[in-house]
Amino acid sequence: MVSPAGAERTALIDTAAIRHNVRTIAEFVRPAKMMVAVKADGYGHGALTVARAALDAGADWLGTAHVTEALALREAGIEAPVLAWLHTRGTDFAQAIEHHIDLGVSGWELEEVAAAAASLQTPARIHLKIDTGLGRNGSTMAAWPDLLQRVRQHQEQGLISVEGIFTHLAVADEPDRRETDEQLSAYRQALEIAAEHGIVADLRHVANTPAALSRPDAHFDMVRVGVGVYGQSPFADRSAESLGLKPAMELRTTVSNVKVVPAGQGISYGLTHRVDRPSALALIPLGYADGIPRSAVHAPVSINGTLYRSAGRVAMDQFVVDLGPADTDVQVGDEVTIFGGASGISAAEWGTASGTINYEIITRIGARVPREVT
Ligand code: PLP
Repeated sequence: MVSPAGAERTALIDTAAIRHNVRTIAEFVRPAKMMVAVKADGYGHGALTVARAALDAGADWLGTAHVTEALALREAGIEAPVLAWLHTRGTDFAQAIEHHIDLGVSGWELEEVAAAAASLQTPARIHLKIDTGLGRNGSTMAAWPDLLQRVRQHQEQGLISVEGIFTHLAVADEPDRRETDEQLSAYRQALEIAAEHGIVADLRHVANTPAALSRPDAHFDMVRVGVGVYGQSPFADRSAESLGLKPAMELRTTVSNVKVVPAGQGISYGLTHRVDRPSALALIPLGYADGIPRSAVHAPVSINGTLYRSAGRVAMDQFVVDLGPADTDVQVGDEVTIFGGASGISAAEWGTASGTINYEIITRIGARVPREVT
């Protein structure tokens, strides 16, 4: 009999933690509504799993980058309001409108969305995006009046309904920086200009997780939260625990080989690390194909509840842990936790060891690692 592929390598997804985090963030932001970002397959946790748990715990909206991600939620029977905000030419706006998906509009999308609405004879629900300083998507302040005038024309033809006006913050994870104040003031100005054009939206939304947790003046009518719902801290100097959040992903496997090597032995490609004494090594069957960063150096790993460090380069399918002096109790098949669960290791620590952040660590855990939902 063939056993389930990859069952010895698992990302445990804790839906109770997701529900807890939604309720914890709600305490900060109510009466504002809460949109949970489930893009990128729910930051690697499984978009449907997260969507269902978050809605169950009281989330009001779901957010995705792409229309295809939003359509997948609809295909799975999720009827909650969904906003998709990042589009390419050729995006199937008609299908989005048919499936009651709200669309973020920064500029060029407006005419394509209006044309799709005309072909269906159904108004499209849009959220206008203004760039208040992130320099990414969103209308510039200079182009805003022109966009608003075009919106007015499409509104008058019954093709467009403006449900929201939103912006995205650049440095909310660094609460002392003045640029967030500047973005909020530019956003208020954009709202005033919209009102002068006769465009007032019921849903003004700005805050990501760090702003939801630290800037009540950014809550407006709704917050758009991602990383906090997954139980990760958005702040470099604050742990998830100190914010009352519970990590929702535990990455586990078992030791795949143990051996003792002599002093001077080099480890993994490039021989970037050599042991300086006879050492026991454990082989961990997760690599960069699974989302473990190749750049990780001395990253933490828990084996049977004891903390060890990685040694040498992470390869495609595996990496090595230095167990220290040669007499080790660790054996093939012993329990390994990379981060999460009771290990005490955070995805943020893996981020620090790899020159990245917890967002990237959790989101990149690959499709080869089965998700086990509890
Ligand atoms: N809003 C937008 C437009 C985003 O792109 C994201 C994620 O990057 C979020 C909200 C959620 O951000 P966070 O995960 O920091 O809460």
